[in-house]
Amino acid sequence: MTSGNSCVFVITGPSGVGKGSLIARLRERIPSLEMSVSATTRKPRSGESDGVDYHFLDPAEFDRRVAAGEFLEYADYSGNRYGTLRSEVEARIEAGHPVVLEIEVQGARQIRETMPSAVQVFIAPPEFDALRSRLEGRGTDRSEAIEARLAVAEQELLARDEFPHRVVNDDLDRAADALEAIVRGKLSQSQG
Ligand code: ADP
Ligand code: 5GP
Repeated sequence: MTSGNSCVFVITGPSGVGKGSLIARLRERIPSLEMSVSATTRKPRSGESDGVDYHFLDPAEFDRRVAAGEFLEYADYSGNRYGTLRSEVEARIEAGHPVVLEIEVQGARQIRETMPSAVQVFIAPPEFDALRSRLEGRGTDRSEAIEARLAVAEQELLARDEFPHRVVNDDLDRAADALEAIVRGKLSQSQG
């Protein structure tokens, strides 16, 4: 698959940095953007629904889909598996919609190889400790899970220079402005 003139945006960065919050703002500002709904073996959090937040799969089903070549990328992250289904991205590209992938760094590296035209943006925290306070404040993860995510985050932050676009999520509005500028820049190029 090639993305042709369609725009694929990869938003990556450590857990708790604010990827989901920024993408929600971005989609309010640019409603034509569509999310690819990822698959995961993680258990749903309270309030999450299957097919909306994720496709929640058991490990055997995830493996079956890996073997069938259904993933554009996938990775192990903090004890679970996460992946982007080709069908999620292809359907939206075919319908002419720009697509957003919200994925961790290993997956972003795979997309860099398989879909080099995708625009990759690394979201960074103003300082490391902001990740802990944001994950604690979000209240979705137990303390052991937060520690595990912070350990992964240290490694992920080392990857920031691999990414052509970097946005520091200090103030949410300012960061949303910076992300919007990157996305609008690419959208207007592809239309022109
Ligand atoms: P991610 O999707 O990267 O894991 P979230 O978007 O879920 O991160 O944000 C984690 C927590 O941090 C949420 O509770 C969110 O409201 C909060 N948050 C996001 N951006 C900021 C910011 N710029 N300043 C303070 N808190 C933020
Ligand atoms: P969470 O458990 O907080 O929903 O997600 C954990 C991490 O997995 C986040 O960094 C999130 O961006 C990432 N993630 C979500 N979906 C995918 C995916 O399809 N592929 C990859 N590689 N990472 C994903």
